[in-house]
Amino acid sequence: MNQDKYNLSDKIILAIREVLGEGSIDLHAPHLKGNEKKYLNECIDSTYVSSVGQFVSQFEKELSEYVDSKNVIAVSSGTAALQIALRVAGVRRDDEVIMPSLTFAATANSASYLGAIPHFVDIEKNRLGLDPCALKEWLEFISESKNNECWNKSTGRRIKAVVPMHTFGHPSKIDEILKVAYNHHLTVIEDSAESLGSYYKGKHTGTFGKLGIISFNGNKIITTGGGGAILTDDPQLAELSRHLSTTAKLPHPWKYVHNDVGYNYRMPNINAAIGCAQLERIDYIIRTKRELYKKYKSAFKSVKGVQLLSEPSDSVSNYWLQTIILDEEHTAYRDDILKRTNDSLIKTRAAWDLLSSLDPYKSSPKAPLRVSEEVVGRLINLPSSPGLFD
Ligand SMILES: *Cc1c(COP(=O)(O)O)cnc(C)c1O
Repeated sequence: MNQDKYNLSDKIILAIREVLGEGSIDLHAPHLKGNEKKYLNECIDSTYVSSVGQFVSQFEKELSEYVDSKNVIAVSSGTAALQIALRVAGVRRDDEVIMPSLTFAATANSASYLGAIPHFVDIEKNRLGLDPCALKEWLEFISESKNNECWNKSTGRRIKAVVPMHTFGHPSKIDEILKVAYNHHLTVIEDSAESLGSYYKGKHTGTFGKLGIISFNGNKIITTGGGGAILTDDPQLAELSRHLSTTAKLPHPWKYVHNDVGYNYRMPNINAAIGCAQLERIDYIIRTKRELYKKYKSAFKSVKGVQLLSEPSDSVSNYWLQTIILDEEHTAYRDDILKRTNDSLIKTRAAWDLLSSLDPYKSSPKAPLRVSEEVVGRLINLPSSPGLFD
């Protein structure tokens, strides 16, 4: 038993070293080797470092072309983007919002900020995203339709929205999720925080739902230091998102009139300056991440008992975080593998604990989470920085 455990951790370390060489290796360091400094200097020289400026508009325009969404609203974080997106989608206090339990806390927190209640549904084993079949079955069991709205029969609350998440950059089965949501009068808001540059059946993730969001945190596929964006093809929702994220102030040259409780969530120009430089490098960044996957794939071929997570055959993934899944009989070795790799200066990490197990969400409504519970303890994210071997 001990011998086995020792061997698996060792083999994993060897496989990672085979790909990345010696030394200390980050989980995901940003790639800042383009025009970031140049644009930052331009931004400072212009004095427009705050919530207005040319870089914000440029970043929004270039991003909207890249993802092919009619409107992009740049904000201060992915979490802020989700909160605004949920609010303009009509999520209100005491509504329930369906989402996977295997996701980053921000997916649930953004609903909580609005007084809404996260409601967890199971994921699919091979893509780790919300399972459309589990969603359908659960909604048929728990909900009823009244006046073209979806109501939870057991809590008496309205279910307003579904938030699928494209886990580690791999697209969920978003077209099937949309179909189920439509049949139950639910609005889909995609948490595509991790999936900039990932496509499902040729269409960019985050552009299927009524709204989608992206994160530009330091560890995401591209970064603005901190930042996020709302994507939508709906001009009215775009307008309202922009309005609410800029304190709901009515345009006027000197008067301060606000017609709603808005938020100070606009992306500062100085962050957008970094974003413009990052967008120039995005094809390169994603290419190197996809190459990294191939190198891991070949290095892990001889490691029995672990699978490397691959893009679904109908999708192109940005491979944001490379992930191994331990075979079921090796579940108990996960912590040893995490400890030994980190002790060897290889920064690996466990997947998030299921949100349904965390203090703030323990009593949230949930469907059976069989796959989530079975798989969560077997996931390990490997070092995935862009440009790791240039
Ligand atoms: C990163 C992330 C967010 C939040 O983004 P921030 O910019 O860090 O606020 C939301 N959801 C998921 C799934 C994420 O990975």
